[in-house]
Amino acid sequence: MTYGFGMNDSTLVQNIGEYIAAGDTKAALRVIGREFHSRRWSLGTSSNYSVITHRNPIELLITASGKDKSSLTENDFVTVDAAGNLLDTEQAAGKKSSAETLLHCLIAECITDAGAILHTHSVWGTILSRNLLEPDQAFGVLGIEGYEMLKGLEGVQTHDTMIEVPVFQNSQDMAELSERIRDVLEPSSVTYSKRPPVHGFLLAGHGLYTWGKSLAEARRHIEIFEFLFEVTVQQKLLSLCP
Ligand SMILES: [Zn+2]
Repeated sequence: MTYGFGMNDSTLVQNIGEYIAAGDTKAALRVIGREFHSRRWSLGTSSNYSVITHRNPIELLITASGKDKSSLTENDFVTVDAAGNLLDTEQAAGKKSSAETLLHCLIAECITDAGAILHTHSVWGTILSRNLLEPDQAFGVLGIEGYEMLKGLEGVQTHDTMIEVPVFQNSQDMAELSERIRDVLEPSSVTYSKRPPVHGFLLAGHGLYTWGKSLAEARRHIEIFEFLFEVTVQQKLLSLCP
Protein backbone atom coordinates (compact mmCIF):
# COMPACT_ATOMS: atom_id res chain seq x y z
CA MET A 1 0.00 0.00 0.00
CA THR A 2 1.30 3.46 -0.81
CA TYR A 3 0.59 6.58 1.19
CA GLY A 4 0.86 9.30 -1.40
CA PHE A 5 4.55 10.09 -0.98
CA GLY A 6 5.76 12.17 -3.89
CA MET A 7 2.24 13.13 -4.84
CA ASN A 8 0.94 16.66 -4.93
CA ASP A 9 -1.26 18.17 -2.24
CA SER A 10 -4.58 17.64 -4.03
CA THR A 11 -3.79 13.94 -4.46
CA LEU A 12 -2.87 13.70 -0.78
CA VAL A 13 -6.20 15.25 0.23
CA GLN A 14 -8.09 12.84 -2.03
CA ASN A 15 -6.22 9.94 -0.40
CA ILE A 16 -7.11 11.19 3.09
CA GLY A 17 -10.81 11.06 2.14
CA GLU A 18 -10.44 7.55 0.77
CA TYR A 19 -8.65 6.28 3.88
CA ILE A 20 -11.21 7.89 6.16
CA ALA A 21 -14.05 6.35 4.14
CA ALA A 22 -12.35 2.96 4.41
CA GLY A 23 -11.97 3.35 8.19
CA ASP A 24 -8.16 3.22 7.96
CA THR A 25 -7.46 5.93 10.55
CA LYS A 26 -3.70 5.41 10.77
CA ALA A 27 -3.33 5.66 6.99
CA ALA A 28 -5.38 8.86 6.98
CA LEU A 29 -3.25 10.36 9.79
CA ARG A 30 -0.05 9.37 7.97
CA VAL A 31 -1.21 11.21 4.86
CA ILE A 32 -2.25 14.20 6.97
CA GLY A 33 1.30 14.28 8.41
CA ARG A 34 2.77 14.20 4.90
CA GLU A 35 0.44 16.96 3.73
CA PHE A 36 0.92 19.18 6.80
CA HIS A 37 4.70 18.76 6.56
CA SER A 38 4.67 19.71 2.86
CA ARG A 39 2.62 22.82 3.70
CA ARG A 40 5.06 23.76 6.50
CA TRP A 41 2.50 23.38 9.26
CA SER A 42 4.18 20.32 10.88
CA LEU A 43 7.93 20.49 10.34
CA GLY A 44 10.25 17.95 11.92
CA THR A 45 8.79 16.14 14.90
CA SER A 46 6.50 19.05 15.81
CA SER A 47 2.72 18.68 16.04
CA ASN A 48 0.54 15.78 17.11
CA TYR A 49 -2.69 14.33 15.81
CA SER A 50 -5.36 12.21 17.46
CA VAL A 51 -8.65 10.50 16.73
CA ILE A 52 -11.13 9.69 19.48
CA THR A 53 -11.69 5.98 19.00
CA HIS A 54 -14.01 5.49 21.97
CA ARG A 55 -16.13 7.62 24.30
CA ASN A 56 -17.35 6.58 27.76
CA PRO A 57 -14.59 5.91 28.59
CA ILE A 58 -12.54 8.14 26.32
CA GLU A 59 -9.77 6.50 24.28
CA LEU A 60 -7.61 8.21 21.71
CA LEU A 61 -5.30 7.00 18.96
CA ILE A 62 -2.49 9.58 18.93
CA THR A 63 0.86 10.10 17.26
CA ALA A 64 3.69 8.84 19.46
CA SER A 65 6.25 11.30 20.79
CA GLY A 66 9.17 12.44 18.62
CA LYS A 67 7.98 11.11 15.26
CA ASP A 68 8.79 12.99 12.06
CA LYS A 69 5.45 13.98 10.56
CA SER A 70 6.73 13.73 6.98
CA SER A 71 7.26 9.99 7.31
CA LEU A 72 4.89 8.53 9.90
CA THR A 73 4.73 4.75 9.83
CA GLU A 74 2.02 2.32 10.90
CA ASN A 75 3.93 1.91 14.19
CA ASP A 76 4.16 5.61 15.10
CA PHE A 77 0.89 5.71 17.04
CA VAL A 78 -0.20 4.83 20.56
CA THR A 79 -3.57 4.45 22.24
CA VAL A 80 -4.22 6.35 25.47
CA ASP A 81 -7.02 6.68 28.01
CA ALA A 82 -8.69 9.89 29.23
CA ALA A 83 -5.74 10.63 31.54
CA GLY A 84 -3.14 10.07 28.81
CA ASN A 85 -2.02 6.68 30.10
CA LEU A 86 -0.79 4.24 27.47
CA LEU A 87 -3.16 1.41 26.65
CA ASP A 88 -2.20 -1.72 24.71
CA THR A 89 1.30 -2.02 26.17
CA GLU A 90 2.36 -4.46 23.45
CA GLN A 91 1.59 -1.92 20.75
CA ALA A 92 3.23 0.82 22.86
CA ALA A 93 6.52 -1.04 23.44
CA GLY A 94 9.44 1.39 23.02
CA LYS A 95 7.14 4.33 22.41
CA LYS A 96 5.93 7.27 24.49
CA SER A 97 2.89 9.40 24.14
CA SER A 98 3.63 13.06 23.47
CA ALA A 99 3.85 15.43 26.44
CA GLU A 100 0.97 17.28 24.81
CA THR A 101 -1.27 14.21 24.96
CA LEU A 102 -2.88 15.77 28.04
CA LEU A 103 -4.16 18.65 25.89
CA HIS A 104 -5.77 16.20 23.47
CA CYS A 105 -7.40 14.43 26.42
CA LEU A 106 -8.68 17.74 27.77
CA ILE A 107 -10.20 18.73 24.42
CA ALA A 108 -11.79 15.30 24.03
CA GLU A 109 -13.36 15.74 27.48
CA CYS A 110 -14.57 19.34 27.05
CA ILE A 111 -15.69 19.22 23.40
CA THR A 112 -18.08 16.34 23.66
CA ASP A 113 -18.81 16.02 19.94
CA ALA A 114 -15.15 16.15 18.87
CA GLY A 115 -14.05 13.11 16.87
CA ALA A 116 -10.52 14.22 15.99
CA ILE A 117 -7.98 16.77 17.25
CA LEU A 118 -5.13 18.20 15.22
CA HIS A 119 -2.22 20.39 16.36
CA THR A 120 0.19 22.29 14.09
CA HIS A 121 3.23 24.58 14.49
CA SER A 122 2.98 26.88 11.47
CA VAL A 123 5.05 30.00 10.85
CA TRP A 124 2.00 32.29 10.71
CA GLY A 125 0.32 30.82 13.77
CA THR A 126 3.58 31.08 15.71
CA ILE A 127 4.22 34.71 14.78
CA LEU A 128 0.62 35.82 15.26
CA SER A 129 0.10 34.13 18.62
CA ARG A 130 3.38 35.46 20.01
CA ASN A 131 2.45 38.95 18.90
CA LEU A 132 -0.90 38.81 20.70
CA LEU A 133 0.32 38.31 24.27
CA GLU A 134 2.68 40.33 26.42
CA PRO A 135 5.28 38.10 28.17
CA ASP A 136 3.41 38.39 31.49
CA GLN A 137 -0.07 38.01 29.99
CA ALA A 138 -1.64 34.58 30.53
CA PHE A 139 -4.62 34.84 28.21
CA GLY A 140 -5.89 36.82 25.24
CA VAL A 141 -8.32 36.56 22.37
CA LEU A 142 -7.69 36.84 18.64
CA GLY A 143 -10.73 38.20 16.78
CA ILE A 144 -10.97 37.48 13.07
CA GLU A 145 -13.79 38.93 10.99
CA GLY A 146 -14.93 39.73 7.48
CA TYR A 147 -13.26 36.92 5.53
CA GLU A 148 -15.18 34.60 3.20
CA MET A 149 -12.93 31.75 4.33
CA LEU A 150 -14.49 31.92 7.80
CA LYS A 151 -17.32 29.88 6.29
CA GLY A 152 -14.97 26.90 6.26
CA LEU A 153 -15.38 26.68 10.04
CA GLU A 154 -18.28 24.47 11.03
CA GLY A 155 -21.50 26.41 11.62
CA VAL A 156 -20.26 29.75 10.21
CA GLN A 157 -22.68 30.87 7.50
CA THR A 158 -21.41 34.26 6.39
CA HIS A 159 -18.25 36.32 6.02
CA ASP A 160 -20.03 38.94 8.18
CA THR A 161 -18.97 37.14 11.33
CA MET A 162 -16.33 37.58 13.97
CA ILE A 163 -14.81 34.48 15.46
CA GLU A 164 -12.76 34.55 18.63
CA VAL A 165 -9.71 32.36 19.07
CA PRO A 166 -8.49 32.02 22.66
CA VAL A 167 -4.72 32.51 23.01
CA PHE A 168 -2.87 31.02 26.00
CA GLN A 169 0.64 31.72 27.18
CA ASN A 170 2.77 28.67 26.38
CA SER A 171 4.14 26.38 29.09
CA GLN A 172 6.09 23.13 29.39
CA ASP A 173 3.99 22.24 32.45
CA MET A 174 1.12 20.43 30.76
CA ALA A 175 -0.91 19.95 33.95
CA GLU A 176 -0.83 23.69 34.69
CA LEU A 177 -1.51 24.60 31.04
CA SER A 178 -4.40 22.13 30.89
CA GLU A 179 -6.09 23.78 33.85
CA ARG A 180 -5.85 27.22 32.26
CA ILE A 181 -7.34 25.88 29.03
CA ARG A 182 -10.03 23.96 30.90
CA ASP A 183 -11.23 27.22 32.48
CA VAL A 184 -12.07 28.45 28.99
CA LEU A 185 -13.12 25.31 27.15
CA GLU A 186 -15.36 23.44 29.50
CA PRO A 187 -19.08 23.97 28.87
CA SER A 188 -19.68 25.72 32.20
CA SER A 189 -16.79 28.13 31.63
CA VAL A 190 -17.36 31.57 33.12
CA THR A 191 -14.37 33.06 31.33
CA TYR A 192 -15.83 32.54 27.91
CA SER A 193 -19.46 31.63 28.48
CA LYS A 194 -21.06 34.17 26.14
CA ARG A 195 -19.03 33.18 23.14
CA PRO A 196 -20.22 31.34 20.06
CA PRO A 197 -18.71 27.86 19.64
CA VAL A 198 -14.90 27.84 19.80
CA HIS A 199 -13.28 26.00 16.89
CA GLY A 200 -9.72 26.07 18.19
CA PHE A 201 -7.12 27.88 20.27
CA LEU A 202 -3.54 29.11 20.01
CA LEU A 203 -0.58 28.64 22.33
CA ALA A 204 1.60 31.75 22.13
CA GLY A 205 4.77 31.25 20.10
CA HIS A 206 3.83 27.62 19.69
CA GLY A 207 0.86 26.69 17.51
CA LEU A 208 -2.76 25.82 16.90
CA TYR A 209 -5.11 23.21 18.33
CA THR A 210 -8.34 22.59 16.50
CA TRP A 211 -10.82 19.73 16.25
CA GLY A 212 -13.82 18.49 14.32
CA LYS A 213 -16.61 15.97 14.56
CA SER A 214 -14.63 13.93 12.03
CA LEU A 215 -11.00 13.78 10.98
CA ALA A 216 -11.98 15.39 7.67
CA GLU A 217 -13.61 18.31 9.49
CA ALA A 218 -10.60 18.77 11.81
CA ARG A 219 -8.27 18.76 8.81
CA ARG A 220 -10.42 21.39 7.10
CA HIS A 221 -10.33 23.54 10.23
CA ILE A 222 -6.52 23.43 10.23
CA GLU A 223 -6.49 24.54 6.59
CA ILE A 224 -8.98 27.36 7.21
CA PHE A 225 -7.27 28.61 10.37
CA GLU A 226 -3.84 28.56 8.75
CA PHE A 227 -5.23 30.63 5.88
CA LEU A 228 -6.84 33.08 8.32
CA PHE A 229 -3.64 33.40 10.38
CA GLU A 230 -1.60 34.17 7.28
CA VAL A 231 -4.03 36.81 5.97
CA THR A 232 -4.21 38.39 9.43
CA VAL A 233 -0.42 38.75 9.63
CA GLN A 234 -0.11 39.87 6.01
CA GLN A 235 -2.88 42.42 6.58
CA LYS A 236 -0.99 43.81 9.58
CA LEU A 237 2.19 44.02 7.50
CA LEU A 238 0.35 45.82 4.69
CA SER A 239 -1.05 48.33 7.14
CA LEU A 240 2.54 49.18 8.15
CA CYS A 241 3.41 50.10 4.56
CA PRO A 242 3.25 53.82 3.75
ZN1 LIG B 1 3.07 21.56 20.00
